[in-house]
Formats: sequence, C-alpha cells, structure tokens
Amino acid sequence: MKNEKIIVAIDGFSSTGKSSFAKQIAQKLSYIYVDTGAMYRAVTLYCIEKNLIKDCELNVDKIIENLTNMKINFIFNTNTGKSETFLNGENVEDKIRKVEISNHVSAISAIPEVRTQLVALQQEMGKNKGIVMDGRDIGTVVFPNAELKIFMTAEPKIRAMRRYNELLEKDNNVTFEEIEKNICERDYIDTHRDTSPLKKADDAIILDNSHISIEEQMQWFEKIFNSVIE
Ligand code: C5P
Repeated sequence: MKNEKIIVAIDGFSSTGKSSFAKQIAQKLSYIYVDTGAMYRAVTLYCIEKNLIKDCELNVDKIIENLTNMKINFIFNTNTGKSETFLNGENVEDKIRKVEISNHVSAISAIPEVRTQLVALQQEMGKNKGIVMDGRDIGTVVFPNAELKIFMTAEPKIRAMRRYNELLEKDNNVTFEEIEKNICERDYIDTHRDTSPLKKADDAIILDNSHISIEEQMQWFEKIFNSVIE
C-alpha cells in the first residue's frame, strides 16, 4: 500500500490545533486538506446574515429550508498558500473565524439536517482519497473506514490560551475568560448532541499535545503514518 493514497481523519476537541496539524500533514503528503469546521461556520454565518438566529434562538425550520441556498466550497489561494472558504461565491475566510460565529456554530451543527447535507459534501470531496480532513465526526461518521484516524486532545486551559493568543492578533476585544468559556461550552455541546456527537472512534489513535511541540507532533505522525502504509 506504500504508493496508495489514504484518508487521514482527524477529530478532537476545539482548539487542539487540528487544522494546523492537518494542513501540515496535507502539505507533507501532497494531499488535499479539508477543514469541515469551516463548513459549519459558513452555514452559521449564512444564518446570522439572514436573521435566522435571534438572541440565541434558532429558526430551525427556516434554516433547513435554506440549506439548498448555501453553496460552500474551498479555493486554494496561491499567494497565501492556503485554502480559503467561500459561501455563495464570497470569500468568507475571515468572517467565519469571528467570536460571534464560534458562539453559535455548535448549536447550528447540532441540527441533523445540517449535518446530513455537509457530511454528503465531505464524502464527495474524499471519494478519491489522498485527503486529510479534520472535524468532530470524520473517523466515526464521514469516513468510518479511513485508514488512519487521529483523536486530538489537550488540557482545556492550554487550549484556551493558544486560542486566545491566536485571536488577539486579529481582535483586541476578546478576553481569556470569554474564550475559555466558549471552548468549554463547545466541548459540552459537541460531546452531548444526539446526532454524531464528538467521540473517539474505537480505532483512532489519541494524541494529547498539551506538552509537546509542533515538531514533536509531526515526528509522532510520521512514525504512525509509515506503520499504516507499510
Ligand atoms: O473546527 P472548528 O472549531 O472550526 O469547528 C467549529 C464547530 O463546528 C465545532 O465546535 C463543532 O460544533 C462543529 N463541527 C462539527 N463537526 C465537524 C466539524 C465542526 O460539529 N465535523
């Protein structure tokens, strides 16, 4: 299987560095990278802009009705070397990273119809393999037969601090307490929802990166990857 492309599924808690790790792996392997969190964030942005969320109340019927009006895709930006998220032709990469989106995204992603639509799109994206996909249900629901599954975790305080430092570069109005609260709330909703809750697939390998460097994490991956493709 040495020359065959595989599917690398990365799941785990919020702010464990899944996206950065997945991007790094994709670059190393020359695989496609798909950030499924960005897709749920794009749906959330659409709902906010169309007033389908008011004071934390979701207009679920209208959201479901509007699902076919949301076209989400990724386009690789050769200038930045990054893949960017588009919603109905608009580049929404910056908009979807805002705290307002983070505050509503877990509620939106708990709607079963939203998941069905996005999971189908994700499965289509991965049908030729050679893909690294990160999210919450990739190893359990989207690609239960993925050849390599990783489940990422880290101590909540460490995750909140990493996220806080990252957001501070873009938004000076955030506080550490607000970020920590958001991370804990998202963990709770993601692990307790009825449809595809966040959980480790039985055959996923746990990676706790609380106290390891990015370089060590990559070395860890290379060992595991080599053992899988042998
Ligand atoms: O990965 P990220 O933190 O950007 O994801 C945002 C949110 O989208 C998560 O907190 C989770 O509620 C939802 N999500 C999901 N399933 C996925 C990816 C993300 O429910 N596969």
